[in-house]
Amino acid sequence: MKKIALIGSTGSVGRQVLEVVRNNSGFRIVSLTAHVNAGLLKKQIAEFNPQVACLTGGGSFSPVSGEKLYFGENFALEAVTDDADVVFVAVTGFAGLKVVLRAIEKGKTVALANKEALVCGGELVMNLAAAKGVEIIPVDSEHSALWQALNFRKSGYKKLILTASGGPFRTANLREMRHFSAKDALKHPNWKMGRKITVDCATMLNKGFEVIEAHRLFNAPTDKIEVVVHPQSIIHSMVEFEDNSIIAQMSYPNMAQPIQTALTYPEKLPTPLPSLDLIKLGKLEFFPLDHKKFPCFDIALNSLKSGDNFPCAMNAASEVAVNAFLGGKIAFTSIAEVIAEVLSETERIFPDLEGLEHTDAVSRVRAAEVIKKFSE
Ligand code: NDP
Ligand code: MG
Repeated sequence: MKKIALIGSTGSVGRQVLEVVRNNSGFRIVSLTAHVNAGLLKKQIAEFNPQVACLTGGGSFSPVSGEKLYFGENFALEAVTDDADVVFVAVTGFAGLKVVLRAIEKGKTVALANKEALVCGGELVMNLAAAKGVEIIPVDSEHSALWQALNFRKSGYKKLILTASGGPFRTANLREMRHFSAKDALKHPNWKMGRKITVDCATMLNKGFEVIEAHRLFNAPTDKIEVVVHPQSIIHSMVEFEDNSIIAQMSYPNMAQPIQTALTYPEKLPTPLPSLDLIKLGKLEFFPLDHKKFPCFDIALNSLKSGDNFPCAMNAASEVAVNAFLGGKIAFTSIAEVIAEVLSETERIFPDLEGLEHTDAVSRVRAAEVIKKFSE
């Protein structure tokens, strides 16, 4: 029986983790956390009987099934319980970093959906994981695909090829981009996900995040990571080897596969996913990424080149800018402008946890000021 601490159980990934647990007898949930969705958290507690549950964004309630309850911002850390075998980090945003670090400090295997932990604090996380001998298991579909193609190793490749669907605006022209609304950006052609990552797919910031994530997880220099637009989202990513052969991992786009693999590897167990109908699919296409139309991609990569706390500032600015866009305060194309402006004023700070928390806080304030200036 594998005991899972699930951080962010009410989100898109979190709910799919629970679906995998429902469909397999080998897992038990030992803790659950949500930010504001107390209603769903209570239902999940009643169904899964965890020992611990936390609500981090305000509000409180009485125990549902004898669990220990924690309320308040830092209490997601209480969900990293001593008896958990795996800490599944499915929260969105910078909030994931501290939980990931706590899990590693406690020597727990981490199943990582929260890419922001690696974008903001990649060096810190990977160094601590190496020092503690802790495994970071990729959950993001592209990184899971690379890891599966590498036969559950993180080395032995010549090149890592990340696929990108291209998002809802793949075929739009440059002039149209400014006028897309939140509703347009939230219509992802292939995946149903949380709002932040869905908008990040529309700007292609997500693919920039994923290059950083691959760089950290697979210790890959960025010139060994290539991105190709593949609108069908059937190939989730590919590994090229020294003999120039490529292994691709394919399935219909559905997070059940990478989530379950993270929990069962090296075994592959049945999922509710249908077999791929290759004849019906007919063709798989590949295109280059349009850097002009999607400036967020280069902004993310340049923040990695700047190093230290710059990717963390980039992430904080993106969280604030995407919120402002979703709230109708700024145009779609201003997301990139806000992030670039915040980065242009970012001061270099040593990226330990304190430095990153400071960077995150300062960059959020600065992003809000830039947004205010834009909307005047
Ligand atoms: P959602 O927005 O759907 O869910 C986020 C979860 O985190 C919810 O449980 C939410 O609680 C909780 N949460 C939100 N803010 C905070 C906070 N400040 N502190 C603590 N908990 C918080 O996101 P997704 O499930 O889509 O994404 C989760 C992570 O996985 C992200 O890092 C994303 O990039 C990554 N990912 C997602 C994929 C997907 O298919 N969705 C695919 C690949 C990666 P509440 O519901 O109460 O607000
Ligand atoms: Mg992905």
